[in-house]
Amino acid sequence: MTARTRALTTAVVLTVGLIAAPTTASAAPGLAKEPLATGYGGAVVSDTVEATEAGIDVLRRGGTAADAAVAVAATLGVTDPFMAGLGGGGYFVHYDARTGRVSTIDGRETTPAAGDAQMFIDPATGAPYPFPRAVTSGLSVGVPGMLATWERALQRWGTIKLKDALKPAIKVADKGFPVTPEIRAEIIANQDRLKQFTSSAELFLPGGAAPEVGTVMRNPDLADTYREIAKQGTRAFYGGSIGADVAAATQHPPLAPDATITPPPGRMTVQDLRDYRTIDRAPTHVTYRGYDVYGMAPSSSGGITVGEALNILETFDVGAMDRTQALHHYLEASKLAFADRNRYIGDPAFVNVPQDRLLSDAHAALRACLISPTSVLPAPTAPDAGCVPAAGTASPENEVHTNHFVVSDRRGNVVSYTNTIEQVGGSAIVVPGRGFLLNNELTDFNFTPTQGSAPDPNLAAPGKRPRSSMSPTIVLKDGKPFLALGSPGGSTIITTVLQILVNRIDFGMNLRDSVWAPRATQRNSASTVAEPAFIAAAGGLQALGHVFTPQEFIGAAATIEFLPHGKVQAVGETVRRGGTSAAVVFPAR
Ligand code: GLU
Repeated sequence: MTARTRALTTAVVLTVGLIAAPTTASAAPGLAKEPLATGYGGAVVSDTVEATEAGIDVLRRGGTAADAAVAVAATLGVTDPFMAGLGGGGYFVHYDARTGRVSTIDGRETTPAAGDAQMFIDPATGAPYPFPRAVTSGLSVGVPGMLATWERALQRWGTIKLKDALKPAIKVADKGFPVTPEIRAEIIANQDRLKQFTSSAELFLPGGAAPEVGTVMRNPDLADTYREIAKQGTRAFYGGSIGADVAAATQHPPLAPDATITPPPGRMTVQDLRDYRTIDRAPTHVTYRGYDVYGMAPSSSGGITVGEALNILETFDVGAMDRTQALHHYLEASKLAFADRNRYIGDPAFVNVPQDRLLSDAHAALRACLISPTSVLPAPTAPDAGCVPAAGTASPENEVHTNHFVVSDRRGNVVSYTNTIEQVGGSAIVVPGRGFLLNNELTDFNFTPTQGSAPDPNLAAPGKRPRSSMSPTIVLKDGKPFLALGSPGGSTIITTVLQILVNRIDFGMNLRDSVWAPRATQRNSASTVAEPAFIAAAGGLQALGHVFTPQEFIGAAATIEFLPHGKVQAVGETVRRGGTSAAVVFPAR
């Protein structure tokens, strides 16, 4: 246990003691919040100790990684409500130990049938809605894919029923859990948005203020919602009474009498919910220095962008370079991959994404020659456009939205699953009487075309999924799992995954150091956003022309490494996102 996690654990126990409530939040006594665990029988790394515990409990009873993943995701909907939950979506990547195959489920939110490419243009002005106005509105809410993903994952790889997978979450929602410093901070940062809606203020601002750290937060409405789903199945959401409430909340959000905003109304109907389907997709695949790296194909840009950057890096002997040159190549490869991402990637049902070309060695070679060892070069805007300088600017993504978690079981199955409601707190609209926040995922579309004379692959259309950056990843070596990893953090997700892979594979760092090392994220912009410790150690990079914009934290990774003889090492974060929770079923002595 690090000093930091010890301090956090102690604080929670003490404050809960002060209000004379038992530590009812945990399913079983004793799981401390640890960023690191090594052992056997399966592992979970997630944002909260209650969710990790829910997953470990399912694994302990013999459940599969998919069973445990649904229990973890449902519990995160209770204990990490500003990051994800029933009102959102995500991407589920699975390794099946029996077949040796990696598969994925695309559970991304979709645009309602009444949406279109002009939906983010304000009819009153003819100009795009200011981003914050669009975020806190029913208009930004995509048809949630979360629950359908859980059902599909259990159908394909589960051994327990959805109603059983929801049990730990129901228990935590009923009994409550201690408010963490992170939740309190998230509520305070969003209180001006939350108080616009009566349902959101009731749940998250009891008595008009954010609850204190250590007080018990209960969510009986969400417990009832999960119970209704447990009884009636997912149709309660996709067409039934929960769905009716979701659609109504997007069209007519419960504005407070003293609300100061006029949110653009949403266009979602119950029929949109009825029509929602997850998509089973083939994963993206690249080989990298003898490893097989599997990621999420479009509608996420994660798998292609990570894969293209790795392919570019593979044309160099990064391991033999000095630190400055190696990091320079990492940043430049990332920049080049982002140029293609922005130009080409969107929902493949609407856009012809040249996935094979972008992931080909020929394309990597074309890009690799645009890296000079002696200076930073401008990225081209598109392969066919020659070396046109990119005009991007550094865009810090200070708010780490979303959550990522990983699970393995004793059979050797692995899940890498990223869940989101987009911004911290999503649209800030809690569905009245239902206990969960709705996403603002549709603001991941471009509001107006961004690619000059070229078509923009990421404009809204009926049924279309907005481009994501989520990058749940599974890496195999000789057909067996080597790593499972992913992170939240908007488009910095891609570089966080990439950097951990470079640290682990090229720099030969152990997994713990690979995850805990300071991060930098270059996304085809003039300046590279980086954590202060990265900048402090980056002297040689500035001489090559790199410019840095500091940001306290980038991402919050959850990872597992598979060691010989069924041993696993689970690694989360020590300080990013206040530390995350790693555990194994049988700890190694
Ligand atoms: N809406 C974001 C995406 O899909 C969620 C990820 C994040 O913001 O962390 O890329």
